[in-house]
This record gives sequence, structure tokens and C-alpha cells, in this order.
Amino acid sequence: MTAPTDSASTPEGAKTSNFLRQIIDRDLEQGTYAQRHWAGHPADAATHQAGAPDPARIRTRFPPEPNGYLHVGHAKSICLNFGLARDYGGVCHMRFDDNNPEKEDQEYVDGILDAVRWLGFSWDAHGTSHLYQASDYFDFMYRAAESLIEAGLAYVDEQTPEQMRAHRGDFSKPGTDSPYRTRTPQDNLARFRQMREGQLPDGAAVLRAKIDMASPNLNMRDPALYRIKHAEHHHTGNDWCIYPMYTFAHPIEDALENITHSICTLEFEDQRPFYDWLLDRLREGGLINAPQPRQYEFARLNLTYVVTSKRKLKHLVDERHVSGWDDPRMPTIVGLRRRGYTPESLQLFAERIGVTKADSWIDYSTLEIALRDDLDPKAARAMAVLDPVKLVIENWDAVMGAGHLEPCSAPVHPHDESRGRREFTFGKELWIERSDYEDSPPKGFFRLFPGNKVRMKYGYVVECLGAERDAAGQLVAVRAQLVPDTKSGTPGADAVKVKGNITWVGVADGVAAEIRLYDRLFAVPQPGTGDKDLLEEINPESLKVVTGYVEPSAAGCAADTKFQFERHGYFVADRADHLKGGEGKPVLNRVTGLKDSWGK
Ligand code: ATP
Ligand code: MG
Repeated sequence: MTAPTDSASTPEGAKTSNFLRQIIDRDLEQGTYAQRHWAGHPADAATHQAGAPDPARIRTRFPPEPNGYLHVGHAKSICLNFGLARDYGGVCHMRFDDNNPEKEDQEYVDGILDAVRWLGFSWDAHGTSHLYQASDYFDFMYRAAESLIEAGLAYVDEQTPEQMRAHRGDFSKPGTDSPYRTRTPQDNLARFRQMREGQLPDGAAVLRAKIDMASPNLNMRDPALYRIKHAEHHHTGNDWCIYPMYTFAHPIEDALENITHSICTLEFEDQRPFYDWLLDRLREGGLINAPQPRQYEFARLNLTYVVTSKRKLKHLVDERHVSGWDDPRMPTIVGLRRRGYTPESLQLFAERIGVTKADSWIDYSTLEIALRDDLDPKAARAMAVLDPVKLVIENWDAVMGAGHLEPCSAPVHPHDESRGRREFTFGKELWIERSDYEDSPPKGFFRLFPGNKVRMKYGYVVECLGAERDAAGQLVAVRAQLVPDTKSGTPGADAVKVKGNITWVGVADGVAAEIRLYDRLFAVPQPGTGDKDLLEEINPESLKVVTGYVEPSAAGCAADTKFQFERHGYFVADRADHLKGGEGKPVLNRVTGLKDSWGK
């Protein structure tokens, strides 16, 4: 459950080598792809050959299916693919793998492009936008399918799905040939064209590769290449009623785009022999550019306390367990963004977890540590009180004058004087945290209790006199008296020594804010992996909304501004709701605490 690399010892910005970088280093050294030509756009072999030498040293791609919003696992893949292209003078293509007419939607296409841009990457290179969609290649895929049929390498199978399953065999038993396997290429071609023309209903036939029904790799037992689906496609409309299978489409997409290193997750390892088989055949047939792309697999990201599957995340949205794809508890990129994560923190996270060939779980705290490391030098500091109770300074009027408000200030950032100071006022009444007062202090408690002196941070030293409680014993107000001439930053302020230092917000200038205290979405480290229903594993405490008070500098800020609230952790002004309510109320999300406290 720990990160494979020791994140703390990785110097900032240093690129840790990994098996993919070693492969690329080797390919560049050997000039594997140096002779390739590029037509300026995805194309078949002849068109690429007529083009100029490929200006990209390597080509990678990020190929999501537009059937949901991207999550933190995709962020890993984006940082990996775009990052390798950036570091090696290559290009990373943004490609929609939209071979499945159902479930895909323009809303998701837009959301995915937004997420990749926001993460800091671009698919523009050498004056071209490398934004592609698999459905643009349907014509070529169809042509490739016909060429396989003509070469006797594919056939139309009209067994029922049940028969096909039964004939497939299993790990211990070889499959048996379909009775349709011996059809002539002419018959297959005619039948395949009938499929395309819509003469057969859904499920009546599939086009299969003719490889080896006895192969120990089940994926090589005549895999399906095309299926019939009378469905409208979000991009090609009703042009097609047959659609390529993912395993057939993906290698072709890579080949047309001149991809050199096709990086995918480990589940696809068993598909690699077919990937190579198909591209070997198409290259031999002169259809695709040589040398062809190669597939490499890495371990997908599993992050504790969240799920990384679009399907499961969609379920949470559809069943309203969260407010939407951008709910700040969601591990989606839009959710993390609204929660307060920055592109840099996600890049840092991706860099630190690295890439490996072995599946593992990354602890959620690794993500939070990356966020803190990114925000610590950036986020403005501010004071906020999340569970407010009033501190009343009884001698204020006598010592300072009735109604007097004393201006105080603090650095916007403790390590960067150039960012200036934040201003707020000290008065007779201050908001403090309820937990900062005790009638009789436990051992080691240095904050407010009768007779104790504390410093109100950036303000004065006060001496606690006691507290008022209501009939139920609830704290109503804490009483104190000012110790004069102790204002922070004035001569002699340190004459009175205190052990407690308390954050506060003035009642006069503090602003009431809605504060959303987010926590982990699931209560168990590996949700959805046991026999329990995923929904039963949701953390019931994942959102607590409180009304607190924030100092003026944190109230009027723009949406998306990040803060470190002293003692409390990192907060962000909510992208959607900050200042949008009736009276323009600030709405702040907790991103994460100051240190890892989960389960402690
Ligand atoms: P999901 O099951 O969530 O839909 P997917 O793999 O089906 O995930 P795609 O849209 O096909 O989603 O993924 C696009 C790219 O993102 C793929 O190349 C895939 O390998 C990568 N990817 C998806 N999930 C992860 C993950 N958890 N860790 C790393 N990479 C991932
Ligand atoms: Mg998928």
C-alpha cells in the first residue's frame, strides 16, 4: 500500500528513469523510427511515404473513450504520454477512441479536452493540432478488413453468440473451428458487404480473424473484428451499421497516426500478440507505414479510498450519491480541480508514483502530500474559525476605548515578504475555536483556561477569565482580559511569555462563510474489491458543512483561490458556488489538512 518510489527523496523536477524511458532511449539510440515519413495527418502507408521525414522523434497518444469524465488514473496516463513526448522531442496525440456508438457523448468529449488542457498539456505541435478521433478511420478500417478477407485471413461467422462461446474452449481446452471458417474469400467478402449494407440484424454475424482456434492465448482464437450494431454514432451518425471491435481498431488507429510507443495498462498484455499479428499482416499487405507501432503495458493506478473506473463513477453520479462528476469528493479531474487540486500537484503526484509493471495500490496520502508540497509555497495564508465561539475581552473598552478597533496585519506568505501583508482588526469580541477553551485543562493544554495567558496571533496577549455556558452545558462565550502593550510587532511585546498561540477572526470584520469539510469518499481502503456492495462502503462523513468565519482577505477572493488557513489546512474558494448565493456568501472547500491525520 505504499508508493513504489520513495517520494521524499526524489528531487523536484528530476525525472526518474523507468522501463518506458529505457525502451525509448534504446529506440532513439538505434534509430528504430528515424526513417519514417509523416503525411502531416494520419494516413495509410502510401500517403505517409509521400510525406516529409517525420519531425517527431517519438509519437505517443492518449486515447480515452468518451463515455465519462476522466479520473486520477487517466491523469497518470496523460502525464505519462504527454510527458514522454515533451521530454523526448516527440508529439502526443489526443485521440478519442469512439468505436462504440452507444454510451458516447459530446459532453464527455468536451470534458475530456478541458481536463487535458487544464492539466497543462497540448496536442498542438509542428503547427498542427493532433486531435483525432477513431471514427475518422472507419473507412480505412473497413478497407483493412476487406484486405484481410481477400488474403484469407478473416471470415464472416454466423454462429450464435452461445455457439461461439462454446466453441472457444478455455485455458485447458483448445477451441473448435466454426463451420463458417472454411468459406471462400469471395463468399466472405459478399457476406461482409451485406453486413455493411444493413441486410443483417444486430448479432446475426461477426467478422473474425482467422488465426488459431487452438492457441494457448484465447485472444488469438479467431478474435472478432467487426460486429453489427444498428445504432447512431455521435460523430458518424447513421453512416455505419457495423462497428470495429476495440482490439481491431486500436492497433490500426496507432498505425495510421505513426505512433511509435503505444502505452496501455496491463490488462492489455494478452492482447499484444494480436496487436502485432494484425499490424504485421497490414504492413505486409502494404497498408500501414513501417516500422509499425509497438505496445507497452504499465500498471494502472489504483488509489486507496476512491474508485478509478468511469463506469463506477457514473453510477455514483446517476444514483446521486455525489452532486455530479465535479463533486469535490470525486476522483475525477473536474472533481479534484473543484476540490482545490492544482495541475502541478497532479503532475507531481504522477511523477512520484512513477510507472511500473506490477499492480499495486497507491496510498491516498501520496496525493495529498503532493498537493501540500505544491501549495505550501503558493497559497496565501489566512485565519479562519471553523467551529466558532465568542471570546469577549472585558477590559477592552476601558483600556482601548469603547468601540475601538485596532488594525493588525500578517504576511500573506511567511517566506515571501514581496507578497505584502493582509490587514484585519482586533476588537472587544473575537471568534475563536470552541476547542481552544477548557474549564480544567488536560495535561499539555496551553490554550484558554481560567488564569492562563495566551497570544492571539498577530494581536495581543490576553488572560482567560472563564466562560459562560447555557443550561445544557454548551459553551456560549469565553471571557478574557487584555494584557496592555503586548501587541505583536511592537516594542516590548515579548515581555510577557506565553505558551499558547491562538488563531482568531474579529467579530467586527470577520465574514461568515460556508465551509465544506470534505473527507474521503469511501470508508475502506480498497472500495469495491470485497464482497460488499460499493455503495455500502461510502464514507457517511465525507461531507460536513459548517458556518465559520474567515478574515476579510479570504472572503472577497476570486473563485478557485487557494489558502492555507493557519492550523486548519488547505482550502479553496469553490469554483461553482463561491459568492454566488443571495448575499454573496463565501463558500470554501477543505482540500486537505496540514498533515496526514486520517485514521489517527
Ligand atoms: P475506465 O474503466 O475508467 O473507463 P478505461 O481504461 O476504460 O478506464 P479509457 O477511456 O479507455 O478508460 O482510458 C484512456 C486511457 O487511460 C487508456 O490508455 C488507459 O490505459 C488509461 N487509464 C485508464 N484508467 C487508468 C488507470 N487507473 N491508471 C492508469 N491509466 C489508466
Ligand atoms: Mg473503457
